[in-house]
Amino acid sequence: MGQVFVIDHPLVQHKLTLMRQKDTSTSNFRTLLREISVLLGYEVCRDLPLTMTPIETPMQAMNAPMLDGKKVVLVSILRAGGGILDGMLEILPSARVGHIGLYRDPKTLIAVEYYFKVPHEMGGRDCIVVDPMLATGNSAIAAVDRLKETKPKSIKFVCLLTCPEGIKTFHAAHPDIAIYTAAIDDKLNDKGYILPGLGDAGDRLFGTRGH
Ligand code: URA
Repeated sequence: MGQVFVIDHPLVQHKLTLMRQKDTSTSNFRTLLREISVLLGYEVCRDLPLTMTPIETPMQAMNAPMLDGKKVVLVSILRAGGGILDGMLEILPSARVGHIGLYRDPKTLIAVEYYFKVPHEMGGRDCIVVDPMLATGNSAIAAVDRLKETKPKSIKFVCLLTCPEGIKTFHAAHPDIAIYTAAIDDKLNDKGYILPGLGDAGDRLFGTRGH
């Protein structure tokens, strides 16, 4: 079965608890998601390849490690993926960015694509797909299906929260894609929401609840 990495760093866990609380404001939710994404991004990038590069310090010449290969591509699943994207771009400022627009049909919960834009040269690039909630797994599967058509070197999936059903469904379709998450919650409800979860990540991020 596929790999799942739970980032159990105390700062991640503390910030996640603040995000879950129903009285956390839109502004604080946004700030916390950006902060937590920096920390998740730090872990996800742990195995990026390095190459020794000749540089000069003010004192002398040396060979020093720098990231190797083509720029990483961060692929944000619209719309809530934008919250994680902002944080990850703080530590990967030169990353290329792709967007995949998917909405969940409220009756079938099936993911419907309405937008797809990624950099031209995807071959040889490491991709990190970001979406705060890996719930039913349908959007994540649809996003990775499309992304695989562009033949990137590698794909990882980063979320804030997931649940056993989401992991099972996603890895049944894509056992080769590692999931990075801050927590694995109890279950899905019959509307496809994670319990205990944090509610609708997009609404909480953009302040659109009830519209
Ligand atoms: N999407 C959300 O925003 N929240 C959930 O709990 C599940 C999917």
